[in-house]
Amino acid sequence: MIGASTRLFAVLGDPVAHSLSPGIHNPAIEAAGVDAVYVALRCGAAEVSGLMRGLAVGGGGGNVTLPHKEAAAAAVDEPSKLVVRTGACNTFWLEDGRLRGENTDVAGFRGAVSSLLGHTARGLHVLLLGAGGAARAAIVGLTLDGAASVAISNRTESRARQLAAELGDGRARVLPPEDGPGGLRFDLVVNSTALGLQSDDPLPFDPSTSAPPGAVLDLVYRPGETALVRAARAHGIPAADGAEMLVRQGAQAFECWWRRPAPLEAMRRAMEALRREGGAG
Ligand code: NAP
Repeated sequence: MIGASTRLFAVLGDPVAHSLSPGIHNPAIEAAGVDAVYVALRCGAAEVSGLMRGLAVGGGGGNVTLPHKEAAAAAVDEPSKLVVRTGACNTFWLEDGRLRGENTDVAGFRGAVSSLLGHTARGLHVLLLGAGGAARAAIVGLTLDGAASVAISNRTESRARQLAAELGDGRARVLPPEDGPGGLRFDLVVNSTALGLQSDDPLPFDPSTSAPPGAVLDLVYRPGETALVRAARAHGIPAADGAEMLVRQGAQAFECWWRRPAPLEAMRRAMEALRREGGAG
């Protein structure tokens, strides 16, 4: 029951009404038996810093989503190494009176890769589609895991070049978007573009016209599977959408706040229920 000792957690973003985070974190709170509630708060860039500090000082914390992850990175007193490296913070809480920030998208991505492949990206040749915020978490995860090479293809080529130079760790190169992957064969293709969110979007990568990759990880998630996941499986290619990444970034956030293992299975079950109900975004 919500009472005077209940701690308040929130996801801050704009828009945020579509966020699945409350639907994952409230079941996690219940499963873990902690006294807290998790809500979604829409806010502008100017309010992010004050809301983060207020929630944390009040004994709670939360997450930050689009478009405020960079503002959140600037707002924390103690950014983690990954917040500094990616320039983005998606999780915050108070520790020893200081506002701390973490980027749990990186761990979420690495966990999703391992879950799909049965091992990390070590030694793999990877094609990364997209160069936005999700791509930043992905390329940091891939370099930490020791991927052999990362080819980046993005609609706006200059953003791909910037990403490769900033976070590519000397093992990233850029493919001109008009060329596509050509005849190159990759061990893993990661879609971090927004393509696939809408049912009439074109495929970000067509497994029928490219050399078949070893596996496809689509960071997009929507009710049912994404068209890219369906197309990959139809060609016998192991594939997964972004649900596992979302659950795992939430699990690491839970562990930052509560300093105990997250109830991962309860979070996965909640995600599956949200999917069946038609939640997206
Ligand atoms: P973002 O920063 O806005 O980046 C969007 C990316 O998509 C950019 O590379 C953009 O290319 C590309 N793009 C957008 N529309 C396109 C189109 N019509 N054709 C080709 N490329 C297009 O967004 P984000 O935060 O990276 O998120 C991207 C996707 O990842 C979203 O679907 C989001 O839901 C998903 N995501 C999933 C998780 C998870 O936990 N599973 C976490 C984060 C994000 P330009 O540079 O040319 O604009």
